[in-house]
Amino acid sequence: MISLFSRISRMSTSPYFTSKGRQTRSAAREAIAALSTNQKEPRRHIKIEYEKRHEEDSSRDDKKTEDVAAKKRKKDTSTVQTQGSTWQPLNWREQLVHIREMRKTRDAPVDSQGCEKTADESQSPETVRYQVLISLMLSSQTKDQVTFAAMEKLKAYGLTIENILTTSTSKIGELIYPVGFWKKKAEYIKNATKICAENYNGDIPPTVEELVKLPGVGPKMAHITMNVAWGQVTGIGVDTHVHRISNRLGWVKKLTKLPEETRIAVESWLPREEWDELNVLLVGFGQQTCLPVSPMCEFCLNSKICPEGRRRTKGKLEKETKKKLSPRKDRKETKT
Ligand code: SF4
Repeated sequence: MISLFSRISRMSTSPYFTSKGRQTRSAAREAIAALSTNQKEPRRHIKIEYEKRHEEDSSRDDKKTEDVAAKKRKKDTSTVQTQGSTWQPLNWREQLVHIREMRKTRDAPVDSQGCEKTADESQSPETVRYQVLISLMLSSQTKDQVTFAAMEKLKAYGLTIENILTTSTSKIGELIYPVGFWKKKAEYIKNATKICAENYNGDIPPTVEELVKLPGVGPKMAHITMNVAWGQVTGIGVDTHVHRISNRLGWVKKLTKLPEETRIAVESWLPREEWDELNVLLVGFGQQTCLPVSPMCEFCLNSKICPEGRRRTKGKLEKETKKKLSPRKDRKETKT
């Protein structure tokens, strides 16, 4: 560029340009244009330099934008945070508040037919505790409505330790049918009743460790029995609903396969004062909204802060958008 200007300035001071009447302005312009076309090399070079710089600048900008987007994505999809040294899921308090809000009418099957509602409160404390235990033994793999109906039949028959001791296993089976695994459960009830009569003086065991030794009683039943029958919160009762919902909400550091793994994982970070209510809260939520097969995420207050809800609602939105954008098959083609 510098050499182009120096050549032009040399030309403008030459006698050829300055002598009167010999040279017109247009001729001068033509001469300058001719010189300019001969200077293609440096121009292209300058242009290439600009493009390179431009490419570098834009790739730097792109990288910056990508970094910001990645940070945002990371922030958005992350489900964890730490409080001190304890791992906690992100947004768990907000998620819990939302679930309480969605459950405020307390009209799920568990609210009227769960184990807290099945015992006959007019009986002695020992019999009430025994009935709570039997109700929980019936409830595994069985809907609350079916368990409730079986409990009504048992209570009408006489659900006390003394009475069941003298009742045949087949009769118990007849009374509890059609709860899930009714034959096996009839045996469990008969044997557990014997243990209560012989080892616990006609009452039920008072600790989780002893409760789980009864036939057909697992940790979930034991913790709920301790809570409902003995009024002691010893752990979270994790059934299939609590297990599923905890995984969907991101309440476990790694996805868990078994309810017992979920119980240990959730108990590791959830403050103890929240344990008491959690089972009934989540069971009802699982019965009404966070259904096993098709959770109603679009109506759920947690849809934006639940990893599973975000995944499902995003998928649905994409499907709807695709549907809207795709040409309608029934639309006739118009000739132009
Ligand atoms: S958003 Fe969906 S998956 Fe998440 S808690 Fe709500 S219903 Fe369950």
